[in-house]
Amino acid sequence: MRCPFCRHPDSRVVDSREAEEGAAIRRRRSCPACGRRFTTMEEASLRVRKRSGATEPFSRAKVIVGVRKACQGRPVRSDDLALLAERVEETVRSSGSAEVAAEDVGRAILGPLRELDEVAYLRFASVYLAFESLGDFEAAIAALRAESAGGGEPPVAGKPTAMPAATGASAVVVPVTTGPRAAAGP
Ligand SMILES: [Zn+2]
Repeated sequence: MRCPFCRHPDSRVVDSREAEEGAAIRRRRSCPACGRRFTTMEEASLRVRKRSGATEPFSRAKVIVGVRKACQGRPVRSDDLALLAERVEETVRSSGSAEVAAEDVGRAILGPLRELDEVAYLRFASVYLAFESLGDFEAAIAALRAESAGGGEPPVAGKPTAMPAATGASAVVVPVTTGPRAAAGP
């Protein structure tokens, strides 16, 4: 590995240790020419191919950012999000390929998110699956209901399964002078 300071073409490893719970190795290196030290990280490459065709390294942080938006106002803890991102990474890595499509990452998010919070799941799915109408929401909600009924869990009685409540705007009575309000959430 070339020295980033003096560009000497070789360096010596002085320490190696596991990082990211074994998913990566952190190495301390020393340059024999200038004597300075630097750190390198080594991990199995996993790149995400975006719709534009460009690729970028897989990032758990990015998964969390995307999911956190859908979880706004929901009882979801940071720990839950970290765990979810871990599961997503496991799923996409298990495909064995070094490059996955961004849609595959989105698909890998859906399952764990549904277990975590159904409202957040609906929000995320509405973007990821490009819901276009109330019918799309209704179909997704019907699928959720069918699954929770089939899974032996009693359906949650009296719990409104309507869209995520908007930011309380409905409580304010304002004459509607503009066009019809979009029914969708945030
Ligand atoms: Zn050097």
